[in-house]
Amino acid sequence: MTRRQFACAAAPASLVYPGHAAQGASTLVTEVARLQLRHTWTTTMSSSNHRDVLRLRYTSGGVTGQGEGAPIVRYKEDAVAARAALDAISSSITSADPWKFSKLLDTVFSRLPGQWAAKAALDMALHDWVGQKLGVPLYRYLGLDPDAAPITSFSIGIDTPEVTRRKVQEAAAFPLLKIKVGLDTDEATMEAVRSVTRKTLRVDANEGWKTKEEAVRKINWLESQGVDLVEQPLPAHQIDDMRWVRGKVHIPVIADEASLHPADIPKLAGAFDGINIKLMKCGGIQEALRMIHVARSVGLKVMLGCMIESSIGITAAAHIAPLVDYVDLDGNLLISNDPVRGVTVRQGKLVLPSRPGLGLTPA
Ligand code: MG
Repeated sequence: MTRRQFACAAAPASLVYPGHAAQGASTLVTEVARLQLRHTWTTTMSSSNHRDVLRLRYTSGGVTGQGEGAPIVRYKEDAVAARAALDAISSSITSADPWKFSKLLDTVFSRLPGQWAAKAALDMALHDWVGQKLGVPLYRYLGLDPDAAPITSFSIGIDTPEVTRRKVQEAAAFPLLKIKVGLDTDEATMEAVRSVTRKTLRVDANEGWKTKEEAVRKINWLESQGVDLVEQPLPAHQIDDMRWVRGKVHIPVIADEASLHPADIPKLAGAFDGINIKLMKCGGIQEALRMIHVARSVGLKVMLGCMIESSIGITAAAHIAPLVDYVDLDGNLLISNDPVRGVTVRQGKLVLPSRPGLGLTPA
């Protein structure tokens, strides 16, 4: 049976697994939920009106931690398979001691190949659980200053010039915009954006430019358009080309698709100025912290990014935002059916809830 066939066989809307933890029964409830997008979301990779995510509730000792996994299509992940993968190992999760969550996560990481979004969902639920048990917000557990998080950008997906102008006008409350480019409409997109705003802009090419010469030409042109940073100009494997590009441009270039896990980072030094870390790429907070440490050790700056996620995933990432240089945590603002309230944004500033754990409340 393939993983997909297994996933289809696992039919019920939600499954509850009894646990055997020393401190009383633990349960893991998983479900697939659909996030509705405010606008059709288009990047170089895909175009859609909704995204399916894995939701997870881990309960032990009377406390429930919440997690969310937003699987990334580029890495051939989807919510149904993510859920099936966790369901298949749920008894080993519910029988473990959640106070030893780091050990539990290491075990899950070694047993479960891929499925990074599923791992992220479990990781954030355990962090939410431990914070609630200790009665402290996750940022405090980690020793961080919530006021130190950089301002977040707000992303504008690829669209017609008319819709792009409207989206930029709707984003009036955000001082920093991230513009998605990388198709053959880059000039028209930037012209539309600049016709309605003079804000500082960031650009994400999502691997859309194919040659190093094209990347240099585009990046230097974007600098003249008031762009202060460009993300993933070339396909992820073209790291030597990026080394050449970096020598010929002046604004920082950030690796996103080229930077998934801690082991990817050392070879990026010199080819990029920084890396974009996403919980859904690396598998959660614990792994993201490792990536931050590795990146710092080789002199790379750090951006914290996201997928289309609800406030569950975005709030989990926001708790470690004080550790990074650039923040792009806006996935929850792009959807219309957020199930919870967590981190909020005021003029681009992330405002973290001071409640214990992730600090989530029902929307
Ligand atoms: Mg990106």
